[in-house]
Amino acid sequence: MALTGLDIFKLLPKTNCKKCGMPTCLAFAMQLAQKRAELDACPEVSEESKNTLAAAAAPPMKLVKFGTGETEVQVGQETAMFRHEEKFHNPSVLAPTIYDDLTDDQLAARIQAVNSLQFERVGEQIGIKAVTIINKSGAADTFASVATKVAASVKLALILCSENPGAIKAALGSTASQVPLIAAATLENVDKMAAIAKENKCPIVAKGASLEDLETLTEKIKAAGVEDIVLSLDTDSLKENLYSLSQMRTLALKKAFRPLGYPSLTALIGGDDDSQIAATSLICKYSGIVVLDTVNPAVYLTLLTVIMNIYSDPQKPVQVEPKLYSIGETTENSPVIFTTNFSLTYYTVESDVEASRVPCHILVVDTEGTSVLTAYSGDKLNDKAVADAITKSGIEDIVSHKKLIIPGYVAVMSGKLEEATGWETMVGPRESSMLPKYLQEVWG
Ligand code: SF4
Repeated sequence: MALTGLDIFKLLPKTNCKKCGMPTCLAFAMQLAQKRAELDACPEVSEESKNTLAAAAAPPMKLVKFGTGETEVQVGQETAMFRHEEKFHNPSVLAPTIYDDLTDDQLAARIQAVNSLQFERVGEQIGIKAVTIINKSGAADTFASVATKVAASVKLALILCSENPGAIKAALGSTASQVPLIAAATLENVDKMAAIAKENKCPIVAKGASLEDLETLTEKIKAAGVEDIVLSLDTDSLKENLYSLSQMRTLALKKAFRPLGYPSLTALIGGDDDSQIAATSLICKYSGIVVLDTVNPAVYLTLLTVIMNIYSDPQKPVQVEPKLYSIGETTENSPVIFTTNFSLTYYTVESDVEASRVPCHILVVDTEGTSVLTAYSGDKLNDKAVADAITKSGIEDIVSHKKLIIPGYVAVMSGKLEEATGWETMVGPRESSMLPKYLQEVWG
C-alpha cells in the first residue's frame, strides 16, 4: 500500500538540512509521496529507512516473466481491482496442454494443432503464448524427451508440469535456456523444487490447497532465493477457484499482503470443449495464466477475444488510422464509402467490402475512435469532419467522380454534406452486412 507523506516523513532524519533542495523534511516527504522527487536526493536518510521505503514502493503484485526473447511472456504487476479504475496491464496467457504419454503421431498432431492457435481480429494478431507440457507418464526420461521435442517445434513459452523434482530436472536439461515456468512446488516437494528453480533461474508455481498453504509455500520459495512465483490453488472446483482468485487479488492490492502478491495460474483439466469456455470467468477474475485441455480454435478465439476486451484501456477506444484505405484493385471509377475510425466499425466495413468483390475506397474519418452513431450524436461526425477527410485524403485526385456513399444511419447528414463538400451523397445501408448486396446492385 502506498505510504502517505506523513508516513514517509516519519522515516526521514527530520533535521531540515535542505540538502535535498527542499526547505524541510516534511516538504520533501510530500514531494516523495506525490512521486515528484527521488529518495536519492536526500543524502542523510538511513539504510533502514531506504529499505522500508523501497519495499513500500514495490508493486503490490510481482511481475513474473518466463520464456525468452520473442517467446517471453509477462504476467502480474496489476494494480487495479476493476478495469474502470485503471487499465489491466498484462493480458492473461492461455496455455494448452500436451501430455507426455502421446504416441509420436499424436504428439506431432497435437503440436501442429497448438501452433495453429493464432488469429487476426480487428487488425490485431492474437494467439496463445505458452504451452503446458504435462508429465502424465510419470517417467522423467519420457517427460524430458517430449519437452525437448515440443521446445524445438513451437515458438511459445513453456510450462513444465510435474510434481516430481527428478522429472523437472530432466526436462530442464534441454529447455532451461528457454526459461520455462516450473509447475509446481507443493508442500511435499517445495525444498527440492525451489532449489531447482534457483539453480536454473526459472520462475516457479506454488500449488497449495488453501491460501494458507500458498502463503507458506511462497515464504519458503522466497527464503530459498527464488523471487518469481506464480500462485495456483489446488482445486477442481471452479467456484472455489474464482473465490480464491478474488481473495488473492484483494489481499495483494488492498492489503499489500506480500506473500500473495503474485500472479495466478488456473487449469481446466478434463471435460469437453464447452466446459473449457468456463475459462472466461477465470480470465475475468484475474487468472494470469489459464491452462486449457483443448486445442479447439473456436474455444481460443472466444477466450482471446475476451482477453483482448478486458485488457484494452477502457478510456481509449481501439482506433484505426484515419486515412483513405483502398480495398481490392481500385480504379478511378471505384466507389467511395466513408466510415469512422472506431476499429470494430472499420474492420466490419472492410470485411463486408471485401465480401462484395467490388473494389472500393474507404474514407476513414477521425471521430476519436467512436462508432458512426456515437460520433454523430457527439458532433464528432459532421459535414466539416467529412469535408476535411476528403481534402486530406486526396481522394479528389484519385477518382474521376464525386459520389460519396454514406452510412444509412446518418442519412440526415446528406444535405449539409453535399453543401460542404460539393460531392453527391448516396445513402448506403444502415447495417454494414448489407454492403455487399448494395455495392453489387448500385455499383457492380
Ligand atoms: Fe530532510 Fe534529507 Fe532534505 Fe535534509 S536532505 S531536509 S534530512 S529530507
